[in-house]
Amino acid sequence: MTPFELMEPQTLQEAVGLLDPDDASVRPVAGGTALMLMMKAGVFAPTRLVSLQHIGAQHSEIGVSGAGELRIGAMATLSALERNTKAAEAFPVIARMLPRLSNVRVRNVACVGGALAHGDPHMDLPPVLAALGAKVSIVGPKESRDVAVDELYTGYYETVVGRNELIADVIVPAMQSRKAAYLKITARSADDWPALGVAVALHADGNTLRDVRLVASAATAMVMRLTEAEKILNGASADDATLKRAGDAAVAEAPIIGDIRGSVAYKRELLRVGVGRAVRQALSSRPTH
Ligand SMILES: Cc1cc2nc3c(=O)[nH]c(=O)nc-3n(C[C@H](O)[C@H](O)[C@H](O)COP(=O)(O)OP(=O)(O)OC[C@H]3O[C@@H](n4cnc5c(N)ncnc54)[C@H](O)[C@@H]3O)c2cc1C
Repeated sequence: MTPFELMEPQTLQEAVGLLDPDDASVRPVAGGTALMLMMKAGVFAPTRLVSLQHIGAQHSEIGVSGAGELRIGAMATLSALERNTKAAEAFPVIARMLPRLSNVRVRNVACVGGALAHGDPHMDLPPVLAALGAKVSIVGPKESRDVAVDELYTGYYETVVGRNELIADVIVPAMQSRKAAYLKITARSADDWPALGVAVALHADGNTLRDVRLVASAATAMVMRLTEAEKILNGASADDATLKRAGDAAVAEAPIIGDIRGSVAYKRELLRVGVGRAVRQALSSRPTH
């Protein structure tokens, strides 16, 4: 491994100041579970890593407000989120997803900020947060800005987070009467990387679906909203014909990519049936209020 500089700042602002907007070989490192694998594989050779471990104490809190909004510090580990009973009660879809995200050794180390910033379209947390309408707070040298999770990704491993910016927090709006589900379809073990992820959040007004947010991952180059399928679902009832039309619309609008967990043709069929299954799962989930 080529030698590199390891910086260990004590504050978020100090960490931001150690990043370099013009040098892609200078990177923040949170849990390191993704970055270290890239370094070992020789696809990333840093000149400087800025460790976020010492700023963890100030940026790893997880809290649910009285109004039901969830706020997660970017340095909270995935295990801490999984074990947080208030978050699990308010957002059961997150609590159901986490135990199938890799294994406990990875979840004990990997951080929420790293899981969002990495930009690998196979990751499980981003589609769920995108469907829930979450946003991240991004801190730069001069100012901070909020970006919706469904607008965070611009391509395969590409995000809008600048080289000298850090994700500081994630804010998830209250579930209120919404229902949500995440369908993780794996080709091997249940906790493997998904061949397809479909996340959905919606209101059920009697038999009528409203405010549907439908998100695909793993079968697409980046986490993406399926807006044409959403249009079919909004205002409709979740009968077989509607769910089939929504599945067909999703396949028509989503640019599907193949990988070792499934060909393009296979993933197309997964998505076609996955949309309806995710909506049905959401409808059968228990309300949180
Ligand atoms: C064996 C294995 C199996 C896995 N299986 C799954 C799976 O099934 N599903 C799944 O979702 N994930 C899976 N993962 C991935 C795991 O979730 C990620 O590796 C992890 O979420 C990354 O978090 P980290 O804190 O370790 O990030 P790091 O490795 O520290 O960083 C990842 C990237 O994010 C950047 N970064 C980190 N923190 C910030 C921040 N606050 N602001 C801006 N940029 C930041 C880094 O510069 C780097 O580019 C697996 C990982 C392993 C090792």
